[in-house]
Amino acid sequence: MAALLPHNRFGPYIGDEKIGQGTFGVVYKVTKEQQSNDTGQVVFYALKIVELAVDQESRERELVSREEDILKTVKHHNVVRFVDSFTQGKCVCLVMEYCSDGTLYTFIRKRESKLSEDMFVNFLKQIADGLKYLHRKKVLHRDIKTKNILLTTGYILKISDFGVSRITDLVNPSVHSIRMGTPRYMSPEVLKKQPYGQKTDIWSLGCTAYEMAEMHYAFDANREKEAITCIKNHRLPNFDGIMYCSYMKDLIKSMLNKDPEERPNAKQILKSLLGHECTTWSLPTSPIGAELPAIHKTSQVNDDTTQYQILQAAKRESTIKPYKQPRKSLEFASTEIQKLLVSKLDCAKGCDIVCGMKKYFREGVTLRDTLAKYQGSIRGDILETVRPLCAALQGTEQALDALNEAKNSAEASLSSSTDRID
Ligand code: ATP
Repeated sequence: MAALLPHNRFGPYIGDEKIGQGTFGVVYKVTKEQQSNDTGQVVFYALKIVELAVDQESRERELVSREEDILKTVKHHNVVRFVDSFTQGKCVCLVMEYCSDGTLYTFIRKRESKLSEDMFVNFLKQIADGLKYLHRKKVLHRDIKTKNILLTTGYILKISDFGVSRITDLVNPSVHSIRMGTPRYMSPEVLKKQPYGQKTDIWSLGCTAYEMAEMHYAFDANREKEAITCIKNHRLPNFDGIMYCSYMKDLIKSMLNKDPEERPNAKQILKSLLGHECTTWSLPTSPIGAELPAIHKTSQVNDDTTQYQILQAAKRESTIKPYKQPRKSLEFASTEIQKLLVSKLDCAKGCDIVCGMKKYFREGVTLRDTLAKYQGSIRGDILETVRPLCAALQGTEQALDALNEAKNSAEASLSSSTDRID
């Protein structure tokens, strides 16, 4: 198909680096002639070339251009921006924002270990946010899957291929059945050829979430017939291997409810995630914000040095923006302690226990009483080993608490002084 276009010049765009191949077209990394951003850097785009069906009715072209008009209005940081489109020869060129760090599919498969719960929550939050936006704009994606979630610098996730797939179907209607033939992420209602709506995207999001947690497909389409039967008969995959807290597992299961009405919508999913205990994994905008900072990589963690390391980490973080981000430093420390605790407890319930401990600390329960509550469920020697970490966790929770109080009282006094001015 690429041969149809001369000299890798696509309208005003140029570039010859092929970055992908989908079912319906080739994707190139391109630049626009004589264009750079404010800082003088060259701006890259992804350009997808889709071949037109031979007899394109003008009606279809009209539909495509209407679709493109809708796509151009879609602007959200978790959705790949649609930039431009034009026809060249027998092809339609769709120009999109370029995402430099590949797909979520490859990101997951390249990893040696599973995503930490914090990272999982962070990723899911971003996808749900993008989906919430699309649904609010009445755009149905219809093809949410890990291959359609792209990553850019700083672990920013973007939903791609929305609407673009609609255009692909419009310019080449005969391929529609092929697109609808990949069952891995398909909802039962779609497979049963029943009417479907936004909740079908939620089902696919559930499959995506499961894949993030387990590093393999929820419904394995290698055995296609089997996968279809499982989905249609609502035989869900095994959740036992997921090491996240029961709350998170229930959330994934709820997205895979066979009754679309019972599935949460994107807004509700986002709300659940925002209210979840483990949402403190901050985006790695700074060197130590990276997923597995030095302390976590240490294979043998020494409790005596833990607090020192955490303080060092927090200190490094705060030197980036001195005094401006104390909350971020504290949350970072709290997250790190939580990760260490989970690894020390070395059991599937680790995360639940840590969440529970944090809750007790926030309620003002003492360290001794909190540990006493776990005496039945954690082996005595392990409990003793994690005692210093629990103390550190309690410390950061109290500090966060104090920070909150200070903020609230500052806000209160600010608003009362504004009242006086009014
Ligand atoms: P299908 O078309 O069968 O659904 P797909 O979604 O993988 O498959 P494309 O959307 O054509 O196919 O994308 C093919 C590949 O091109 C992607 O897997 C990705 O690696 C790359 N790609 C697509 N869009 C972009 C983009 N905006 N930025 C960077 N790379 C992209």
